[in-house]
Amino acid sequence: MEEFAYRLYCQSCKSECEVYHHMDSHQYELDYCPFCGAEIDEDTREEIHEEEE
Ligand SMILES: [Zn+2]
Repeated sequence: MEEFAYRLYCQSCKSECEVYHHMDSHQYELDYCPFCGAEIDEDTREEIHEEEE
């Protein structure tokens, strides 16, 4: 199963986190900080490409 990972950096609460999700749960909200709920724009959302077994 393909897995996507994103690194989010929130400018509002100065926190950084990594979010993992699978293709079939694509409705997962990546646009908001999980800590303070501030909006994350594309500049502070980095897609991480990892290849794992
Ligand atoms: Zn935040």
